[in-house]
Amino acid sequence: MPFEIMSNQIIFLGSGGSVIGSIEVVCGPMFSGKTEELIRRVRRAQIARQKIQIFKPSIDNRYHESDVVSHNSLSIEAIPVKTAIEILYRVFDSTRVVAIDEVQFFDSMILKVVAKLAKRGIRVICAGLDQDYKGMPFGPMAELLAIADSVDKVQAVCTLCGAQATKTCRISKELTDQVIVGEADIYEARCRSHFDYYDEEEDFFQHAFPFLERWQQDKISRMNQNP
Ligand SMILES: [Zn+2]
Repeated sequence: MPFEIMSNQIIFLGSGGSVIGSIEVVCGPMFSGKTEELIRRVRRAQIARQKIQIFKPSIDNRYHESDVVSHNSLSIEAIPVKTAIEILYRVFDSTRVVAIDEVQFFDSMILKVVAKLAKRGIRVICAGLDQDYKGMPFGPMAELLAIADSVDKVQAVCTLCGAQATKTCRISKELTDQVIVGEADIYEARCRSHFDYYDEEEDFFQHAFPFLERWQQDKISRMNQNP
């Protein structure tokens, strides 16, 4: 399939040179500039006079009800939606670009929604957290990254050592729900070595123990067979 790469965005072209849809994902930890990158791509599409619609989940009302606002106060108007399927019904036939911010908060239906939009010939740009505060894939993100045509992982700066941060650390350990919308009062960006996943060890041994036990038994039975 022919395609053109224009400043880290891939535009897929059909046989007649017509633009066909695509799915782009910008992901990373908090404070990594995901939303700034989303806004930058939206602004470029606006300059190119393409019809754009921007959506965000209505769960995320940290700054403004209908704006996508980044940490450095860049903002752009967005339509808050309660479910992923709502996006499908709100996109106009004339829309060429759909941007979705905080995509990790949507249900798994978002995978079908973005695929359907891309099939309609729409360029879909998604931004979101790839991992939760435990370092595990956030909501539909693992599958979204798999079905995307292009993925850009952006990094923040570790608050402890200044290295590139790929993880979001929840400072308060009492809060254990996956979704707690907050800011620098609750979260910090951390590098891998300063990412304190408090029950990692426990979790590892819980999963590894049955395998270790079986391996030990196999070893004993082999020794008994070949004394
Ligand atoms: Zn660090």
